Amino acid sequence: MTVTPGNKQFRLLLRLSPAVPACIVCILQSAPGDADVFDDDSLWFTETHHDQGSAFSIKVFARLHDEQTEYQRIEIYETEWFGNLMVIDGCIMLTARDNFIYHEMMSHPALFTHPDPREVVIIGGGDCGTLREVLRHQGVRHALQVEIDEQVTRLSEQYFPELCVSNDDPRAEFYFGDGIRWMKECAPGSVDVIIVDSTDPVGPAEGLFTRDFYRDCLRALGENGILVQQSESPLYHMHIINPMRKAIRDAGFADVQTLFFPQATYPSGWWSATMAGKQALERQLRLQAAQDKAFETRYYNAGVHRAALTAPEFFHNALD
Ligand code: SAM
Repeated sequence: MTVTPGNKQFRLLLRLSPAVPACIVCILQSAPGDADVFDDDSLWFTETHHDQGSAFSIKVFARLHDEQTEYQRIEIYETEWFGNLMVIDGCIMLTARDNFIYHEMMSHPALFTHPDPREVVIIGGGDCGTLREVLRHQGVRHALQVEIDEQVTRLSEQYFPELCVSNDDPRAEFYFGDGIRWMKECAPGSVDVIIVDSTDPVGPAEGLFTRDFYRDCLRALGENGILVQQSESPLYHMHIINPMRKAIRDAGFADVQTLFFPQATYPSGWWSATMAGKQALERQLRLQAAQDKAFETRYYNAGVHRAALTAPEFFHNALD
């Protein structure tokens, strides 16, 4: 066995010998030309965005779980700076450190736009973080999470218990099955807000970004109904956002708005959620209620809401 700086065994030796303080590891790792250190996956988890020529890496201590389910591969890592990390099919789903931004922005803007949200359905969201945020709203009477892969929820209960604190709330209900089929069978006009907190538009989630699915959502929603869906990176994925907004309009929604927010661990570090209304969204917006909200948040507030609705010039220019 040859032990040289940058080589896996060398670093393992370093890490295992408590006598060597961590900073030394850093110095050795960032030795000039020591490129292979970066792409040595025993210490770093890397998500590569081949279509954008970029990658994002997180320093990890250990892989806590690795499982191929009927639908996807789920991995859980223990990281050095981001707490636990959930990865599905090689894509970062969430970290303990920054998930609050995503979960709050997927929930509160839509709930503070609908005049009186009581019946909420979450499609996907198996980690339960979005459910937790929805149930902060006391006016919500029932929140149903429709997640295709039960293992995501079970692993979240084990490795992200802070996201599952509202799972025993009597208003919470869990259904494990395909959200596309569930929405087809949903009673017309029975839902106030639909939150689609899904993986990227591939595999089981592909059908969640189609006009047919949006038509089923439109029928399921009541007269002031609102749909909100995670809509990828504004910088990397206009080729997804444009057809998605078009399909939503073609399905019959009266209004479409995209909200922007930072998400350090997602591709490009910048993410979005697209909201659609059966009525004009601006007219419904309840910013005063957001201002006076009776619960704590760590990212969302009325000012952030307003700002998140403001699209940058390139986005306006890139819209079809
Ligand atoms: N925040 C993450 C993101 O933006 O990539 C999403 C997190 S959440 C864990 C995504 C969930 O969507 C996964 O648990 C996945 O199983 C679920 N999902 C994918 N397709 C689905 C479908 N057709 N019906 C219900 N859930 C689905």
